[in-house]
Amino acid sequence: SSGPDLDAMVSVCRACPRLVAWREEVAATKQRRFLGEPYWGRPVPSLGEQRPRVLVIGLAPAAQGGNRTGRMFTGDRSGDWIMAALHRAGYATQAESWAAGDGLELHGVRIIAPVHCAPPGNKPTPDERAACGGWMDRELVLADSAESALVLGGIGWQAVHAAAARLGWQMPRPRVAFGHGAETTFLRDDGTHLRVIGCYHVSQQNTFTGRLTESMLDEAIGRL
Ligand code: SF4
Repeated sequence: SSGPDLDAMVSVCRACPRLVAWREEVAATKQRRFLGEPYWGRPVPSLGEQRPRVLVIGLAPAAQGGNRTGRMFTGDRSGDWIMAALHRAGYATQAESWAAGDGLELHGVRIIAPVHCAPPGNKPTPDERAACGGWMDRELVLADSAESALVLGGIGWQAVHAAAARLGWQMPRPRVAFGHGAETTFLRDDGTHLRVIGCYHVSQQNTFTGRLTESMLDEAIGRL
């Protein structure tokens, strides 16, 4: 299937009962500050170019962020952080994104997630991560134009390694452990490489505490 086909198929997936219930409940109840806005309330497809040079791999959409806007990493503080950094690096046409239709465009980059539905507490279960892995595999195959990937957080790091292993791509043994600034390389079966760079997640726990600073994020993006 093509990229747009995949996005359409992902957006109607109902494989995880707990996440289907949560994403729809959040959309039905709405936070007070977003009462007047429509909520997407479905799986959030990947965002950006179909044939990117660079991938950004996060964790899962946020309940009031991507689950509301229908676009990965938009409409919440984590999204503000990554979008501002992508804008500084020339990948995003604007530094902020608050709602669908605000004019945001990404150039040369595609944002994908190991889990496409917002999980309660931002914590998908191992079963949910495994269920969504099939989408990730197809995503990585379709985006084989990518030369490098920025992976935000250890769960994304595990997920991209698991996907690469399922796809039969070669990687260093033992695997490189996740850390901020960690780097590894996958060899695809067509002989091309994907450089994979680890970065602390842009979650508020990391950005509020200074564990991840803007300059650390900019430096990691600069290595793409
Ligand atoms: Fe489907 Fe993934 Fe959402 Fe589970 S998390 S319902 S596999 S799109």
